[in-house]
Formats: sequence, structure tokens, C-alpha cells
Amino acid sequence: MLKIKITQTKSFKPKPKDETQLGFGKYFTDHMFLMDWDAKRGWHDARIEPYHSFQLDPCAGVFHYGQEVFEGIKAYRTKDDRILLFRPWDNAERFQKSAERMCIPPVLQSDFIDGIKALIQIDRDWIPHRFGTSLYLRPFIIATGTGFGAKASSAYRFVIIASPSGCYYENGLEPIKVYVEDKYIRTAPGLAGYAKCGGNYAASMKSMAKANQLGYDQVLWLDGIHHRYVEEAGSMNVFFLKDNVLYTAPCEGTILDGVVRRSVITLAKEQGIETKEMHIDIDDVMKDGKDGSLQECFGTSTAALIAPIGELRYHDESVVISQGRIGPVSQMLYGRLSGIQWGREEDPYHWTVEAVKK
Ligand SMILES: *Cc1c(COP(=O)(O)O)cnc(C)c1O
Repeated sequence: MLKIKITQTKSFKPKPKDETQLGFGKYFTDHMFLMDWDAKRGWHDARIEPYHSFQLDPCAGVFHYGQEVFEGIKAYRTKDDRILLFRPWDNAERFQKSAERMCIPPVLQSDFIDGIKALIQIDRDWIPHRFGTSLYLRPFIIATGTGFGAKASSAYRFVIIASPSGCYYENGLEPIKVYVEDKYIRTAPGLAGYAKCGGNYAASMKSMAKANQLGYDQVLWLDGIHHRYVEEAGSMNVFFLKDNVLYTAPCEGTILDGVVRRSVITLAKEQGIETKEMHIDIDDVMKDGKDGSLQECFGTSTAALIAPIGELRYHDESVVISQGRIGPVSQMLYGRLSGIQWGREEDPYHWTVEAVKK
């Protein structure tokens, strides 16, 4: 058990009253978790403090060379007031893999979980009640060591902050429009595509801005060598349904190994739907979209869960999928996953973990 020193806030913030207007990343809870690393002490000084800004030296590594990793995980309140986490050990493991790739000392998986649980415990009243709402937790590590040496930092800070989040689908499961990026790439074999790190996002924002300007919600990335095989969307893994088989890109180091992606593969199997993890040619996707054999397309992520994709644009062509509506398989997967996460359906895989003792 991680020893955590707790300093409680003296000025509790007002909690947002309207749970339909929480949005995403708009409100933050009263506290945050912190832990520091240096070569002599390793990870040390685990603590919970009032939510606050911190001071960093302008030459801290994170500002110059982007040494940073993060995670995204939610806590869900059930009808009978239990607080659940969904596959938190998967996030803990991925956090270590991301850190390892970015030359950041990994945090023990059990410390990661203990930090999350401790923060939830102290801020549990911030977890909203409405179905579809949750407390989004954002663990991250930044390089705090100083100097201009372009090498791994000599010090790090691990932080967890928490934000009550609205239902992604407050207005129904509205399909998104996706722009296939044909010029820039997100990553390539040997790069850090599998790591959840700020750098991957920084390098993708230009494409995201271009897509938004053209009226699209997300970018779909193609592989970095052939500019041909579908990898994933900006912050989601992507699935295609054709002939009742689900297709998705394989985890070969260039895509994020999503927790929801894994769960979808298991739930599809449970429903008798086969999943093939393979390279998917964008030309085939567009052709199948045009002749109607592409039945459904959706993205998966902790934030959105299942995001139906209603339109794909590649070069100057666009195809509408599933008549721009959510398809039955996407709907079923959303229902099963959300049912398990909010404790409304049985959890035969033991994916959920109770976050706090009552
Ligand atoms: C976080 C993330 C995902 C989704 O992962 P989940 O574990 O399912 O939330 C997919 N792609 C990228 C690039 C991501 O950063």
C-alpha cells in the first residue's frame, strides 16, 4: 500500500449543479495527487493536496523536449452508489509502457492504482450521478529536471487530476464525420505511436485543425510508410464492419493499444461477431463505403466509448456510412460496455474494480 500524505483543502469549490452541462475538462475537483522522482530517492513523497497550479523552472525538461506521458481513465457511479473503475490495471500497465518508451521512470502499477483510489476517496462527492456521466481521471508525468541537455531528465513529477465529465452523448449517439489525412502522418514503425504521450498529440494538431476547418470532427491516420493502411483516429481506435466481421488495425507499435478496443473485441466475440486485426487498405474502405458493403464504422475510447462514424472523406471523395446513423452493432456494443461500466449489467469478465470502500 502506497503511503500518501493528505492535506485537505480549506476552501471547497462549488460543484456544478447541472449534470447535463458538465462538458469535458471544464471543472476540476478539490484535490490532486502528486509524487516526485529523483535518482537518489526514486518515486517518493506521495501526497494529496488541494488542487493548485505549480511552479516550474522555465528550463524544466517538459517545456523544451516534451518528455511527458499521460493516461485517461474514468470512475463511474452506480445506481446503488458504488464507485467503479473499468480495467484500471490495463491503464496502469500502459502507463508503464508509455513511460518506458519516453525514458521516464515507470510508476509501480499498484502505486498508480493507489493514487487514483485515494484521489477518488477524498473527492468522491464530485462524481456525478446521471447515467453516462463520470469522473475523468488524468494521470500524467512531466520532466521537471532543469538544463538544456537533450537527454532524459534528472527529475519527474507524477500528477493525477480529476474532472467531472458529462455524457458524451447528451444529445443522443450522433455519428461523427472523419477526415482521412493523406499528407501528414502520426507515427511510423520505430517511433512512439503506441505510447500515450503529449508529443504524439502535438504533432497531430495541424491535421486536426485542417479537418475541423473543413467541417470534420476527427482525423483518421494512415500508416507512415505506404500512406495507405488505416491506423486509428486522433484519440480513438477505429473499427469497420463488413460481412458481419469487424476489422481493426493490429497493435504492432504504431497504434495505441486501447482499453475499449480490447473490450470491444471480447464483447463482439461474445455476440458471435468475429474480429480480424489486420492491415486495412483505405482504398478498399472507400470502395466498400461507396457500394454499401461497409455496414458500420466506429471509433473507441474511454472518453467517447463508442463513437459511430457517419462519414469518411478521403482526398476529394466522401462516403456516408450506415445512412449517417448509428448501426445496430455499434449500438449493441455501446449498450454492453456502458451497462458494465455503470454497473447496470453483469460483468462476466471482472473488468470493473470497486474504487472506494463505502
Ligand atoms: C487514449 C487513446 C486511445 C483510446 O484508448 P482507450 O484506452 O480505449 O481510452 C486511442 N488512440 C489514442 C491515440 C489515444 O491516445
